[in-house]
Amino acid sequence: MHWRVLIAVLALVTLAAGKASAQTVPDGDPALPTCPESEPAVVSATPPPIPSRVEGPSGVVALTFDAGADRGYAQDILDTLSDAGIPATFGMTGRWAMANPELVQRMASDGHMVINHTFDHQSFTGLSDRLGGLSADWRRYELVQADAIIAPLIGHTTCPWYRLPYFDGDRSVVGDVAEAGYTQQVGWTIDTLGWRGSSVQNILSRSLRLAAPNAVYVLHVGVQSHDGPALPSIVEGLKDMGYGFATVATLGE
Ligand SMILES: [Zn+2]
Repeated sequence: MHWRVLIAVLALVTLAAGKASAQTVPDGDPALPTCPESEPAVVSATPPPIPSRVEGPSGVVALTFDAGADRGYAQDILDTLSDAGIPATFGMTGRWAMANPELVQRMASDGHMVINHTFDHQSFTGLSDRLGGLSADWRRYELVQADAIIAPLIGHTTCPWYRLPYFDGDRSVVGDVAEAGYTQQVGWTIDTLGWRGSSVQNILSRSLRLAAPNAVYVLHVGVQSHDGPALPSIVEGLKDMGYGFATVATLGE
């Protein structure tokens, strides 16, 4: 190893060590929500082909996809995003990641953001599935368990980013999961209604009609929704309107 390279590496290691110690919560402090320690991220030799934000003259929007059922159109969706060179955000359950590890790896290596959609998609409050809701410990377990499956596939933790099943939440949910470090709840501003069986044409016209700067779309990868087949036209339409694309992490930048 050349000495200049060695010094650069040592400087980075020192910097990382300094950062880590600066974030340590002093004894006696009220427990601040922090994400769990994870293995150092696997740093790829080449950056992902898709940047996390692509600017547009009208601003940016975020496309988010839920993956909790079948693999559906996931592959087509990734191909569409690759062809367009734009980033998206995928929220998946631990079960889905277990069933489709190669798709999860591709999402990360293409440059997309992956967020935690719990282990098996139970309603945290019981509102939507009428199963009575989950205890505080169980709520945290749902996220921690999903992350244990997803993190090794993407090279880093999903924490602090999560999306609730059915978006069933309240203040107690927010507090419970914050104790495990999950402080960034991802919602949406535009629902394509693909999950409800809308046609490709209706999904497209609704998506373009409601478009606005910093909009967050929710789409689904599952085969029961036509969001996947509608995506190429949605992307083309939004680009024609001057929109760029961002992950939810880079939306506010
Ligand atoms: Zn879901």
